[in-house]
Amino acid sequence: MPRPRKSRLLPSITTYTEELVRTIASEFKKALLTSTESLQGELKELRRELGRLERRTEKFSQPRGRGGRPKSHKTCTVRGCGQPHVARGLCKNHYQQARYEEKKRDMGMSVRRRSPGPAPVPEGSTATAAAAPPPRKRAAKVARARKHSKARAARA
Ligand SMILES: [Zn+2]
Repeated sequence: MPRPRKSRLLPSITTYTEELVRTIASEFKKALLTSTESLQGELKELRRELGRLERRTEKFSQPRGRGGRPKSHKTCTVRGCGQPHVARGLCKNHYQQARYEEKKRDMGMSVRRRSPGPAPVPEGSTATAAAAPPPRKRAAKVARARKHSKARAARA
């Protein structure tokens, strides 16, 4: 049975090519092996590092449930709230609310005024004027027109 792969006319070239391919392949394999080895080494190192990190993280995260702020079984003192207590007998929502109102009060502002009081009276105007504001724009326009006509009369 003849071997169809090998040409009888160019056996040397074929063998040369085959040899070349084999050489390249082996070189390639070697290079690959080397890089794989180095990669494996790096991977090993990384794994070790990761393990160290994991252990450290565990150390930090473990006491979370036990340490820190002790859990209280108190609830919010606001009637009908029933949320877990956070501070000053309040839940987190009501505590935040209280803090907010305090802050506003400190800044001299009133909070949570449901019905708006009388509108602030602008400076320099009486209460009646504020109640019925004059058509200022129009008045100014008229005054300007009057002045303009006066100037024209003076020129003439
Ligand atoms: Zn509450």
